[in-house]
Amino acid sequence: MSEGKELKDMLFNIKKSGWEHQSDEALTDIFKFAEEYMYYLNSSKTEKEIVSNSKEILLKNGFVDIEQKETLEAGDKVFYVNHGRSLYAAVIGEEPLTNGMRIIAAHGDSPRIDLKQNPFYEDGELAMLKTHYYGGIKKYQWTNIPLSMHGTVVKPNGERIDISIGESEEDPVFTISDLLPHLAAEQMERKLKDGVQGEDLNILMGSIPYNDDTVTERVKLNVLDLLNHKYGITEVDFISSEIEFVPAFKARSLGLDYSMIGAYGQDDKVCCYTALRGLLNVEMPKKTAICILTDKEEVGFNGVTGMCTLRFEDFIHEILDKKGENTPSALQRTFTKSKAISADVDAGYDPNYPSAFERNNTSFIGKGITIVKYTGSRGKSGASEAPAEIVAELRGIYESAGVKYQACELGKVDKGGGGTIALTLANRGMEVIDSGVPVIGMHSPYEITSKYDVYAAYKGYEAFYRG
Ligand code: MN
Ligand code: MN
Repeated sequence: MSEGKELKDMLFNIKKSGWEHQSDEALTDIFKFAEEYMYYLNSSKTEKEIVSNSKEILLKNGFVDIEQKETLEAGDKVFYVNHGRSLYAAVIGEEPLTNGMRIIAAHGDSPRIDLKQNPFYEDGELAMLKTHYYGGIKKYQWTNIPLSMHGTVVKPNGERIDISIGESEEDPVFTISDLLPHLAAEQMERKLKDGVQGEDLNILMGSIPYNDDTVTERVKLNVLDLLNHKYGITEVDFISSEIEFVPAFKARSLGLDYSMIGAYGQDDKVCCYTALRGLLNVEMPKKTAICILTDKEEVGFNGVTGMCTLRFEDFIHEILDKKGENTPSALQRTFTKSKAISADVDAGYDPNYPSAFERNNTSFIGKGITIVKYTGSRGKSGASEAPAEIVAELRGIYESAGVKYQACELGKVDKGGGGTIALTLANRGMEVIDSGVPVIGMHSPYEITSKYDVYAAYKGYEAFYRG
C-alpha cells in the first residue's frame, strides 16, 4: 500500500458498500432476515395489523401484557397495547428506571387511501367509494394499481367487525381509475401535483345491479347487500368505521441479485420490525429497554395513539409503580436520564433524480443504518437536533457492534425536508437521535430498501438497547 493510500484510508470517511467482503454466513443471515421481514410486511399492511402481529411475536417470545403483572423486576418482559393502534414493549433492566431507559420508537402507520365516513355512491351504473388520502402522497401514483381493503367497522353496541379483502389470491382487488391518455389533453397540461386531485381518488367497487328494476342505485344496493351478507353491516355503519385501501402488492425481492426489497409501507414498518426483533434478543439489560410502535406519525404525531399521547407516560408510570420505584418526580427523572432513537426511514439516493440530493450528505441504499443529526426543512425548521454527545455515543455503539452506519440528511438544503417523532420524545426531556433505513421512492405504493440496511438496522438497534 502506498503512503498516500494509507494516509487517505486513515483520514477520509469513505463510505463503502456494505455488501463488500461479506462472508457466506453473513450473507445467509442477511437474506434469511429479509425473508422474515417480508413475511411480516405481507401480513401487516395497516397500523392495526402491525400492532396485532407484533403482539403475537411478543407473546411467542415470553412477553406478557403488563396488566397481568402485579410487580416487575429485572428481566421481566411486558407490553401495553394502546387502542389496538400503538404498542409499547419493555424488557426491565437491572438498574432503577430513574437511571434512564433505552428507547427505540418507530411508527406503524404509512401513507394510504382512507374511506370517508359516507363513502358509497353510484355513477354510470358503477358502485364507487369516496376517499380521503392519509399522509403525504403523490396522488397519481395511487391510480390503476391493485388495492386491498383493510379495516374495522364498530357498531353502537360495541361489536367490532374486521375487514380484509384483497390479500389472498382468491380475493378480488380494487382500484382507482385514471383518465386514458387519449382524453387527457387538459389533464396533462396541469401541474403534476394537480394531475390527479383528492376528489378524483374514488374507488371502483362493483358493477352488477341488484336484481330488481323497480329500485334506483341498484349497483350500490348490490354492493351493500354483499357487504351485509358477509359482515352484517349497512351503509350507516361506515360512519363508525376505519377502512384503509393499501396496495395489494406483495413484498418481493428486487433486483437480479435479490439485494433489495420492493414493498408497500416500508416507511416505517422496516423500523418497526427491526426495532421489535432487536428487542427480542435483549435479556437482562442494564437499563430498561423500550420499543415503541406508534401511530399517526404521517399526520403529525397527535391523537390518542400518536407519539404525543400521555398514554406513553401512563405506561412508564405503571412500570415505576410495579417496580416499587414511583415517586412524584420519578417519571420526569426517568425521562431526563433516558436516551432514544427515533427509528425512521430516510431518503436514499435515487439515480433517476440526482439533482434532488447532495452526495456528501445523502444516504445510499446498501451502505448501512443512517445517523440523522437533524431533520426539518429550510433552515432545520421543525427539527429536534440531536446534541453531538448522543451522536458520538451512537457512533460508538454501532462501531463496537460492527454495524455500518452513514450520516445523512434528507435531500438538498432548500429542496424540501421532513420531520419525525424525534421532537415529541426530546420535548419529554430525553436525548433523541434519528437513525433508520434509507428508502428509495418513499411514500410511493412500492418503496425500495436494501436487505443489507434492514439487517444493519436490526443489529444496530439491538446494540443500542444493550447500551
Ligand atoms: Mn416515517
Ligand atoms: Mn413517512
